[in-house]
Amino acid sequence: MRDLHHLGVAELAALLKNKEVSAVEVATRFLARLGGNPHNAFLDINSEVTLDQARASDAKLAAGTAGPLEGVPIAHKDVFVTKDFVTTAGSKILTGYRSPFDATAVRKLREAGMVSLGKLNCDEFAMGSSNENSAFGAVSNPWQTSHVPGGSSGGSAAAVAARLTPAATGTDTGGSIRQPAAFCGITGIKPTYGRASRYGMVAFASSLDQAGPMARSAEDCALLLSAMCGPDVDRDSTSLDVASEDFSRDLSRPLARAGKDGGALKVGVPSSWLAIEQGLPAGDVDGCSPKVRDAIKDALHRLEVEGAEVIPIELRNTGLAIPVYYIVACAEASSNLSRFDGVKFGHRAAQYGDLLDMYQKTRSEGFGAEVKRRIMTGAYVLSHGYYDAYYLQAQKIRRMIADDFQRAFAACDVIAGPVAPTTAWKLGEKADDPVANYLADIFTLPASLAGLPCMSLPVGLGEGNMPVGMQLIGNYLDEARLLNVAHQFQIAHPECHTAKPEKLA
Ligand code: GLN
Repeated sequence: MRDLHHLGVAELAALLKNKEVSAVEVATRFLARLGGNPHNAFLDINSEVTLDQARASDAKLAAGTAGPLEGVPIAHKDVFVTKDFVTTAGSKILTGYRSPFDATAVRKLREAGMVSLGKLNCDEFAMGSSNENSAFGAVSNPWQTSHVPGGSSGGSAAAVAARLTPAATGTDTGGSIRQPAAFCGITGIKPTYGRASRYGMVAFASSLDQAGPMARSAEDCALLLSAMCGPDVDRDSTSLDVASEDFSRDLSRPLARAGKDGGALKVGVPSSWLAIEQGLPAGDVDGCSPKVRDAIKDALHRLEVEGAEVIPIELRNTGLAIPVYYIVACAEASSNLSRFDGVKFGHRAAQYGDLLDMYQKTRSEGFGAEVKRRIMTGAYVLSHGYYDAYYLQAQKIRRMIADDFQRAFAACDVIAGPVAPTTAWKLGEKADDPVANYLADIFTLPASLAGLPCMSLPVGLGEGNMPVGMQLIGNYLDEARLLNVAHQFQIAHPECHTAKPEKLA
């Protein structure tokens, strides 16, 4: 049989539409690859459910009522609730939990025709940068199994990179789509906060959490994003009342005409991230490894060759993003996670005295170390006497960071830089050092705090021959332009996003 697993979303959708292959054939091919759960990427697989969906898709394809992505497989980060698969959010406290409904993002992708292969491993409640915080074991990076895949959507990134699925959903609170995409050499986009519904996403930090697609190309991400977005105002109070778009519409626009004014695309590079001289990046990226810095400089140069103009910009307060994010995210997490009390969902301690004892035992047993650390940090920064000093102060700086971006977008169309200061690190290397993990989020947190759309695309290899991702950040609702830029890069340099782990069959 044809190597169906090497095909992307757009290619599979075309084959299915032309009836060159059936949805059941495609699903069967991918299910065969999931046997033995390579990389520990999946947390739940149910071939009967998958094949039922594939059969329903084949019926729609035959009847001429197919959705745009009918029969194309996808797998969902285990943070999205699903009625046909178990949902754990990577936590022991939700072991065996089955939701009575599907998250909006899951439902919309199914309505577009996609067939679900199951649920993907992730850091517990999406807290982490390496996928080592999952209660169900770490995920390994398909490029080098001794290395982390990134996090928290590590299962999603590893599964796409290992061709276990052509596409996956991810969630990004402070980088969890972009950073694992970068570490595994795939493409991922987080839309503007509020574009994709949070209904049915297990909440971590509600003012930051956002869903988005992960796939191998910007073209595929555009198709997936078009299906995922759209208003859901009755179910998610932070959902934007903005219709979804055809995010593929601008993909083929040359960069020489991709600017807001119809002229050359202006790419702003924050001088604190990468110094620029005479339009060309020259200096060092703050805390960036030399090979990551070189790969980003090279990618910026390639954008110039394609017709873009690279200019320096200032983002004065982004250096404060780490403390601001870890105050806001922990504060929101401590509130959101209070619902896991042994009464309503999942795990309850087997033996306990009174109600308080039941809460304590259930939560002590159910939550992992990182989750407990964040609940305690969050409760502390919200407590009387500290609220003004930490939480309120963090909110003010968050606003300043967002304002910096607006000043920058007066001068440029998109902002570019690294996703992470290094390539994927070794499993265990930072496992006992939470702060080392937090510091690695320096480049992804600012756009999250501002609620801006942002993405990662592979631009080459760095230390240890591991993938490097370039980050693109756009202004609010400007996802189509980000995808346009990424696609132009990918058609000019297909070797970057089509590169795959050496031993991959
Ligand atoms: N690494 C960040 C954290 O640990 C981001 C996580 C995320 O985006 N879900 O919080």
